[in-house]
Amino acid sequence: MANAAKGLIVAIDGPSGAGKSTVTKLLADRLGYIYVDTGAMFRAVALAAKRAGISIDDEAALIRFCQGIDIAFARNNGCCRVVVNGEDVSEAIRTPEISLLTSKISARKPVRDFLLLRQREMGRKGGVVLEGRDIGTVVFPDADVKFFLSASAEERGRRRFQELKAKGEDVSLERTIAEVAERDEQDLRREHAPLRRADDAVDIDSTGLSVEEVLNRMERIIRDRLKAKG
Ligand code: C5P
Repeated sequence: MANAAKGLIVAIDGPSGAGKSTVTKLLADRLGYIYVDTGAMFRAVALAAKRAGISIDDEAALIRFCQGIDIAFARNNGCCRVVVNGEDVSEAIRTPEISLLTSKISARKPVRDFLLLRQREMGRKGGVVLEGRDIGTVVFPDADVKFFLSASAEERGRRRFQELKAKGEDVSLERTIAEVAERDEQDLRREHAPLRRADDAVDIDSTGLSVEEVLNRMERIIRDRLKAKG
């Protein structure tokens, strides 16, 4: 690819709670690459649309709405704040309610089309790790390295539960597992860019693996690819 000299495009896809955000951030740090959390971009659109009272069924309103929204990532205390129209929404986009709404709004074509352009723009120069559901299949089908990161449904629900608990959210384990399963279902079944493993993705099942172990596997594969490219 043309991006070889400036660093690779690395795609990390997989279902909710597989550990993508944690490993993607750390991997980007190890490589000195840019980190792009595409889920945060969909979450930002969902939050902003909710606040603006936009119905997710109103396609024309969604198109107009997307044209007026500015999403950016800012670094603060080391990482990755999500800024929408100048406001830091990093915490507000992570509630269970916004998670479910995000899964619904991300099935809408105007939203996907809008964010697709933004994501390609952010990644096209290379030296970037992007995480999401359709990076290796739709956003960058010719990414240099693709991973499909998964874990058992129970493990993913448990991890999400611990994350939410640590933030002080009032959640139950059963409910969190059910919400993760509901989001999986929506992400897998949607018409536009459903969650799908790219044929040439490297599978990593993180069930029972430490973050360090997942990171080491990924880094080895990426370094090999970099060497192969000279
Ligand atoms: O990764 P995260 O859990 O933050 O993503 C939130 C939601 O955004 C997912 O459940 C999915 O519906 C949507 N999403 C998507 N395509 C992506 C990234 C996220 O549809 N590339």
